[in-house]
Order: sequence, then C-alpha cells, then structure tokens
Amino acid sequence: MAISPRRSRWFRRIALLAMCFCCGPCLLAGAAHGASVIVVKAGRLFDPASGGMRERPVVVVRGNKIDSVSYGSAPPVSGAKLIDLGDATLLPGFIDAHTHLTMNAGGGGYESLGSSTPRAALIGAKNARLTLLAGFTTVRNLGAQGYADVALRDAINDGDVIGPRMQVSGPPLGITGGHCDNNLLPFEFHYSADGVADGPEAIMHRVREVIKYGADVVKFCASGGVFSKDDNPLLEQYSPQEMTVLIAEAHRLGRKVATHAHSAISIKDAVRAGVDSIEHGIFLDQEGIELMKEHHTFLVPTSYPLFWFEEHESQMNLPPWVIEKAAIIIPAAKKNMANAFRNGVRVALGTDAGVYPHGLNGGEFWSMVTLGLTPVQALQAGTSNAAELMGWSNRVGTVRPGLFADMVAVKGDPLADVRLLQHVQFVMKNGVIYKDEISAGHAEAQQ
Ligand SMILES: [Zn+2]
Repeated sequence: MAISPRRSRWFRRIALLAMCFCCGPCLLAGAAHGASVIVVKAGRLFDPASGGMRERPVVVVRGNKIDSVSYGSAPPVSGAKLIDLGDATLLPGFIDAHTHLTMNAGGGGYESLGSSTPRAALIGAKNARLTLLAGFTTVRNLGAQGYADVALRDAINDGDVIGPRMQVSGPPLGITGGHCDNNLLPFEFHYSADGVADGPEAIMHRVREVIKYGADVVKFCASGGVFSKDDNPLLEQYSPQEMTVLIAEAHRLGRKVATHAHSAISIKDAVRAGVDSIEHGIFLDQEGIELMKEHHTFLVPTSYPLFWFEEHESQMNLPPWVIEKAAIIIPAAKKNMANAFRNGVRVALGTDAGVYPHGLNGGEFWSMVTLGLTPVQALQAGTSNAAELMGWSNRVGTVRPGLFADMVAVKGDPLADVRLLQHVQFVMKNGVIYKDEISAGHAEAQQ
C-alpha cells in the first residue's frame, strides 16, 4: 500500500503521540521524530543478501526511507538526530508472512460465534501494536472475519492506529464444510463463511469479490485443518481443477495466492496449480518437496505454534476436536518441517499468531532453528525471503538505500543466540521510532 504524503504527515504526528504512551525510553527517542533526518549507528548490521554481519553500520534515514548505509565512522549529517545503539545488532524490520491480527488466541469453539466483524477489527488494532513492538514491521494477514483486516490495514496506513504495514486477504476461500467454512451451527441456521465458493464459476466470482473489497493477496484452504470442526487435515478439499481456476484468476488480477495445505496431496495439487506459498505444509512428503523446489514455491512453516501448543494446550480451553487433531499434527509437522529444511525448500517466516498470543512472533526464529535452519537462514526467512514472497523486495526486507526505513535492534549477537530475536529492544517503522530501550540517554543532535 502506498502512503500519500498527506497521510504520511498525519501518520507521523499520531505515531509520535501514541509512542509517548508506550514506554519511558521512547520519550527520549521521540525527540528525533520532529527531525527529517535520523542517523542510526549500531555495532553490526545483519545483511540478508550475504547472510553475514557488517561491522559499525551508520544508517541515514531521511523521511520514511533509508537514504544511505555506510560503515565505520561517517561524517556528521547536518541537522540530523543521532540514535546511537552502541554495540547492538541492527536488523531489517522482521516480516511475518502468516498472521491473524484480528483473532485472539483460544478461538475455534462456539464462543467464536459471538464476536462481530467490528469487534474483530478492534482486536486487530490491539494485536497490530503488539506485533509491531515485537519487531515485525510488515505482515501478511491470511484470513479474517469479514473484511476486518482491510479496515485494520487502512487504519494503520491512515495513522489511526499503530501497527505493521500489511498485506491482507479478507475472507479465505474454501469449500462448503471445509476448513475455511464454519461448521459449528446446525443446518437450520443456513450459515456459511464469507469466503465459501464451490465450483469454477463461484470461485472466479469469489476471487473477484475479495479483490473488489480490498484483498492484496488471495488465501484459500486446500485441505482440512486443526481448528475446524468435522473436517480432516489428511484429505484434500478443493479439487485440482478448482485450485487451477482460483489461482489463475487471482494471478490474472495481479494477486499472489497462499494456501492452507496440510495433506500431501493438497500440497502437491496446489503447487502444480501454481500457488505462491504453501502455508503449514504439515504432511509435506519427498515428492512434494521436489515439486516445490521445481516450482520455486515458498513454504511458510508456522512452526512456533507446534511448540507453544505442547506447553500451553491445557490452559487454552480448546474444543475436543482441536486437541485430537493437534495430537496427530504436531509430531508429523516437526518431522516433515525438519525434512523440508534439510532438503532446501525455500522458506518464508510465518507465525500463525492468533492461534497463540500475538507479540510472541519472534519465537518462530527459534523454532525454525530448532527444526534445522541455521540462524542466518531463519533471519533470511523473516526478512528478504518473506519480502520476496510478498512481492515487496523493493520496499522492505533489507536495510538498503531507497527502501522504507524499517529496522529493529537487539543487544548481543542473534546468530549466536537466536532467542534474542524474541526480545527486540529497538523498533523503527517508516522512519518513526516506536520502541527504543537502548539509546536512551545517548540520543543527541549531530552538528
Ligand atoms: Zn493461519
């Protein structure tokens, strides 16, 4: 989403006001907000392109864009504010390619029916702030009640609420009775979810409809899932023919397509039909891995919930069908994700936050490393790879002149301890500092 200069000005004013409530050190960093130029210095900078660290970066931010990146001692910039992050590690703002900002954890049961679309949008406002402060400056929201995610994206772009820059899908497409429908109510209620569409003609109409109402990306459900009642993650839902029509229509209208796919057959049929990313990929087998590599399809493994569930399932008040399915899914997913990582499938980071609490998104770096990615590969998945999947490599995902000034920092070396990424201490998005627990007391004007 492009942000007009007028909106950008308002965004900065409101972000400055809102920032004043977030934490003490922000107040000090807030002194930098009025300046059009900010110089950020740190101990090292993670470069996703090379996969390495560069020492002593000096990043000049002009307005909402990165103006220059140099290393070592740089000449002072006239009129600029200096943010000195000491020996901290500076990184591109993180990207979450699979989140559900308009959902709170613990959904899936009958209580979920009592929440309206306006309520979902307000839940989204809360979770957008938590996600941004966890260092995720860009997200792809895959599946929302009504168009609550469209409203949230627009409110963030207008500066009404604080949050990451967003791509959104609106309601996910799915078959009648499938994972993207809602099977909680009996027949006499005649209820089906907003994205339900069966057969090529209805699917083409639904793709056009979600785009009409604001979808940047199209999501569909190729298989059953964990949180849905009375469907089976081991089976395929859309037929190969339906997937082909869906994906072709979305691509024709300039939208990428993400699919929820658990079963091996649904993964393979979606890849053959040209899908851009497989979400979850729980039962991904060797043939599926080879197909994904051949088609350059991204895997968004959403692995942190697997670990989080194991520790917290009993406190979540989950319906019995979720608990039954999770017992089958979790061990299979861990084994198959590790195999996919070993075999070099391209990975973009996605958290599925919303099935567990928002703001814990950084745990996905740790869980992907636990399943076999190197810390560098995990960081690439959460920066440059996710940007590429979203078609936003010329906007975000690396710290490079001309891109949006989205940066985060942590104390210490995250390549030595990937858990540091779960405690981000500096967050800048669009040239605005939302969190600074490092430079407080060190910010000063350059001559
Ligand atoms: Zn999801």
